[in-house]
Amino acid sequence: MTRHDVAIVGGGIMGSAVACFLKRLSRACDVVVIEPDRTYAFASTPRASGGARRQFSCPENIAMSTFSIPFIERAGEELAVDGEPAHVDWRQGGYLFIVGPGHVDILRANADVQQAHGVLADWLDADGLHARFPSMNLDGIAAGVHTPEDGWCDPSGLLQAFRRKARSLGVAYRDDRVVGVDHDARAARGVRLQSGASIAADHVVNAAGAWAKEIAAMVGMPLPVEPLRRFEHYFETPNAIEPLPYVKDMARLAFRPEGRGYSGGLVDRDEARGFNFDVDHGWFERVVWPALAHRFPAFEACRCERTWSGLYEQNELDGNPVIGNWAGRLDNFHVVAGFSGHGMMHAPAAGRAIAELIVHGRFETIDLARLSYRRIADNAPYPERGIV
Ligand SMILES: Cc1cc2nc3c(=O)[nH]c(=O)nc-3n(C[C@H](O)[C@H](O)[C@H](O)COP(=O)(O)OP(=O)(O)OC[C@H]3O[C@@H](n4cnc5c(N)ncnc54)[C@H](O)[C@@H]3O)c2cc1C
Repeated sequence: MTRHDVAIVGGGIMGSAVACFLKRLSRACDVVVIEPDRTYAFASTPRASGGARRQFSCPENIAMSTFSIPFIERAGEELAVDGEPAHVDWRQGGYLFIVGPGHVDILRANADVQQAHGVLADWLDADGLHARFPSMNLDGIAAGVHTPEDGWCDPSGLLQAFRRKARSLGVAYRDDRVVGVDHDARAARGVRLQSGASIAADHVVNAAGAWAKEIAAMVGMPLPVEPLRRFEHYFETPNAIEPLPYVKDMARLAFRPEGRGYSGGLVDRDEARGFNFDVDHGWFERVVWPALAHRFPAFEACRCERTWSGLYEQNELDGNPVIGNWAGRLDNFHVVAGFSGHGMMHAPAAGRAIAELIVHGRFETIDLARLSYRRIADNAPYPERGIV
């Protein structure tokens, strides 16, 4: 049996960000990350689209973006190791939410909240949209909000940068799988591994992404986080389009420029939950392409070059993450999961928040109490409004 101050279950972007910020806040903190697959073949992070935006309605999500996006922009220095910069390929391409007449009021209210939190969020009516994005078909579209300081990065690069930085700060990564969490009535005591080894720890962090529910069940904690498959596509068109931001609409069509083409998809909210990585090669042609070609006729001639699948760690209660400990039950068992499609962009802020809880016993920089486990226990959803 080895012993550590903190054992982190899952070494994806969330676990690695928690590890980095723990070492930033307390160099003496002895941290181990348990990750069964150092290639991250099925982890969500490397399969993500890389988008990072401030367009949310919940102030907590806006605040997490306001910290995380500049952090990602500066990741070269923030996550440099021995003077060698990290490479995350940040592009400040902006984000654009577009809505029909039925959603104008909620979009306006959300833009007001964002602006009140210091976000540069430009309101565009139909004329404004046409002037900025002349290739867009405005049929059914009444308004949009453009946040030019948002953008996207290489999610795999960001994960590897966090992992490399964590290791350089003394965090241990163990190639193993957690098969049990030792606990008594008041506290988690450590984790048991597939190899047969055990690790004793003062704190256990559940950062297992789409597998987080399984880890929570090991201590009897009900966690409504389910794997939700979605497809991401890389596609190209021979037709010219003005430079586009990351475009999202209320039907969950979302895409952005990538190299000579575009990367994006359309989430199926009715998708059966489960660990399914099969690719439906007809999805693009049946669903995504018609939606794209309707909104931007230049995509009539587009060709899908590649499709891959990945899992959202979907919080079925309200689509927002669970960030915090199991207060009043196992105070030293922490969850950072359920980001429902926002996890890459919020990893820096969420990692720092869990590190603050462990080192200082409270959230110090962003008050994330409303995203804690309490709302799950109370069955009190705290969803985004008008943001998909
Ligand atoms: C197609 C797609 C597009 C996306 N686009 C975006 C986007 O544009 N912007 C954005 O912010 N987010 C996006 N996301 C969401 C984002 O990818 C996730 O929210 C984020 O990667 C979650 O990080 P994580 O570290 O919690 O999970 P993961 O990266 O999945 O890491 C969890 C780790 O836990 C490990 N694990 C599992 N079980 C165990 C166990 N028993 N013991 C130890 N370890 C275990 C796994 O091996 C895995 O490596 C997208 C997701 C998908 C699928």
